[in-house]
Amino acid sequence: MKKLSTPIIDEVCDLSNFGPSHKDEIKELAQMLKKRGKELWIQTSVADELRTQQSGDEVTFIVNQNINFTQYCIGSCRFCSYSIKPETSKSKISRMSLEEIQIETEKAVARNCTEICIQGGLDTELNYEFYVDILKTIKSVSSNIHIHGFSPSEIAFMSQISGETVEDIFKDLKKEGLDSFPGTAAEILVDDVRRKICPEKISTKQWANIVLTGHSLGLRSTATMMYGHIETYLEEAEHLAILKHIQQISNGFTEFIPLSFVYPNTKLYRYMGARPSSTGMHDLALFSTARLYLGESFSNIQASWVKLGPKLAQVSLNAGVNDLGGTLFTENITKSAGGSFGEEKSTEEFIDLIRDAERIPVRRDTLYNKLQIF
Ligand code: SF4
Repeated sequence: MKKLSTPIIDEVCDLSNFGPSHKDEIKELAQMLKKRGKELWIQTSVADELRTQQSGDEVTFIVNQNINFTQYCIGSCRFCSYSIKPETSKSKISRMSLEEIQIETEKAVARNCTEICIQGGLDTELNYEFYVDILKTIKSVSSNIHIHGFSPSEIAFMSQISGETVEDIFKDLKKEGLDSFPGTAAEILVDDVRRKICPEKISTKQWANIVLTGHSLGLRSTATMMYGHIETYLEEAEHLAILKHIQQISNGFTEFIPLSFVYPNTKLYRYMGARPSSTGMHDLALFSTARLYLGESFSNIQASWVKLGPKLAQVSLNAGVNDLGGTLFTENITKSAGGSFGEEKSTEEFIDLIRDAERIPVRRDTLYNKLQIF
């Protein structure tokens, strides 16, 4: 992976650096995202063919567990119903102790999980040492379990509370056991949208900077996009273009995960006029566009069953998708926003969904090494 310098970050986020045809490229992408009716089925069919060439007929999933260690957050993201503001009575705050994290890790090991995904709010009552202690606690239970932890926004927060640079934070966390990080907090990588839906969150440029810094130190991450709220197709297209550009620089993303907006309990939907998430056709248009546009650099396109529901996630396997994500034992964040597709899926449920789509179920690890073919 390449060593980074700041000018690269500017290039990544300024679409005019994509060359003279960038505007046409974005417009064309937006047209693909808008496809409906017969045109959409043609597009999904072409994407499906490309998926066969790029990723084969295997459909992967991972046995993993979430640990959301604190609900206490100074952020005010309008789509988040998980966090609790500092001024709220402390008796309601859910913050895990290291002992509780240890117990959850022991449960994960007993469930044969290969990954723990750890994320939490931006909690001003935690100090940086606590983040390091989380890693040490998990690794003391199992040195083999892969820790996929801390979004770019949490990394920025750690940098703030410790006074260390993002690069030093990543180096330190890696030394203490961090194996990869989630490319969440991306939402839509267009600052006009971010100012409305998550005004206090890191900017597009900061997100790209943090992700590229992590990648440059050998830490892989996922890439995500939260869609189906107030963004336009053009803004979705800009987001995809930024992800592709980052991947061309670092090749550090393991997969692209579109995350449809889970709306019922959110301010964004209730008071700010957001759409009640994407439609099924929008989902399929996005998956097929992602395969056609990103597939060369991202061979893995994931459908999130917890956002879409298992049935639509299964259908998306015919629109360019080759991965169904994880078992997600103890999922909390989507449930708080009003998600109704449950908190976990068993290996058997994944196998049934995949086989019924006439594909081959494969259990993988975080970095897409195959562990078991069913
Ligand atoms: S999305 Fe994350 S940063 Fe935003 S309010 Fe929720 S927990 Fe805080």
